[in-house]
Amino acid sequence: MKVIRSKHKLIKYARSQQRAGVSIGFVPTMGCLHAGHLSLMRRARKENDRVVVSIFVNPLQFGPHEDFAAYPRTEKKDLVLCSAAGADAVYLPAVVDFYKEPCLSSIHVRGITEGLCGVARPGHFDGVATVVMKLFQQVRPTRAYFGNKDYQQLVVIKQFVKDLDLSITIIGCPIVREKDGLAMSSRNRYLSEDERMRALVLNKTLLRAAEWIKEGITDVAALRKRMKALINKQADKVDYIEVRRAADLRKISTCRGSVVIAVAAYFGKARLIDNKVITMK
Ligand code: AMP
Repeated sequence: MKVIRSKHKLIKYARSQQRAGVSIGFVPTMGCLHAGHLSLMRRARKENDRVVVSIFVNPLQFGPHEDFAAYPRTEKKDLVLCSAAGADAVYLPAVVDFYKEPCLSSIHVRGITEGLCGVARPGHFDGVATVVMKLFQQVRPTRAYFGNKDYQQLVVIKQFVKDLDLSITIIGCPIVREKDGLAMSSRNRYLSEDERMRALVLNKTLLRAAEWIKEGITDVAALRKRMKALINKQADKVDYIEVRRAADLRKISTCRGSVVIAVAAYFGKARLIDNKVITMK
C-alpha cells in the first residue's frame, strides 16, 4: 500500500492509474478510523480495480469554536486498518500543501445546506463541498463512497456532483453501529460511560419513530413531539429533530414516500448525529 503525503505525488499516482484504464474507488475520511469507515473501503474494494483512501482533518469544515485541534488523530493505527481493508493508496495531505495560499474559491450548495446541521454549523457544508471537490479533482475517482451516517453531507455531495457535471458515481453506504445500536463515530471517544449510555437514546428513538410511522402516525409535528419527549430525557441538549423528504431534505408535514428522520444532540461536549431513512409503500 502506497502512503502519499504530497498533492503532486497523489495526482501523479492517480493519473498513472487512469492511463492504465483501471477504475478507482475513493473513500474520503478524517481518520480515527472505525468499522464504519472500513465498510466503505471494503465496498470500494469489491467494486473497483484500485482503492484510494484519504485521511485529512479538513480545517475548512470546522467552526471557530469546534473541535478541529482536538479532533482525534490516530495515523499509525489508521494505516494498518487501511491496509487490512485492501486500500492501494492512502493520501494524507498536509494542510499547507492542500490549501495553497491564497485559496479564494469555494463550493457553495444552496438550500439543502441551510437546515439540519447547517443551522448550528454555518459554513460547514461549504467546507465539506470544497474539500470533496478538490479531492475529486486530484483523485478523479470512478466511484466515491460515503456513509449514510452523514446523510445531509451525502445529499449535498450528490447535488454538486450533478450540478457541476462531474462524472463520478456517488455511493451511499449503510450506517455501521455498535452492538448496542450507537452509530459509530470518531467523536464517540469524547463520551464518558454515562454519556455513552444516554446517547443510545438516539438510535432507540429512531427505531420507535419508525414503528410509529408503521402504526400510521405520519404527521411530522406529532412525530417530532413524541421523539423530543424521549430524547430530552437523556440528552444534555437537543440540537434538532427533523423529518424530511429523503431525496432532497425538503420540509414535509406528512410522511409519504421516502423520508429521513434525522437527529442531533449533545451528550457532554460531544455533538452526535444519527438518522434513519424510511420508505412507505
Ligand atoms: P469522517 O471521517 O467522519 O469524515 O467520515 C468519513 C466517511 O465515513 C463519511 O462518508 C462518513 O459518512 C462515513 N462514516 C462515518 N461513520 C460511519 C458509520 N458509522 N457508518 C457508515 N459510514 C460512516
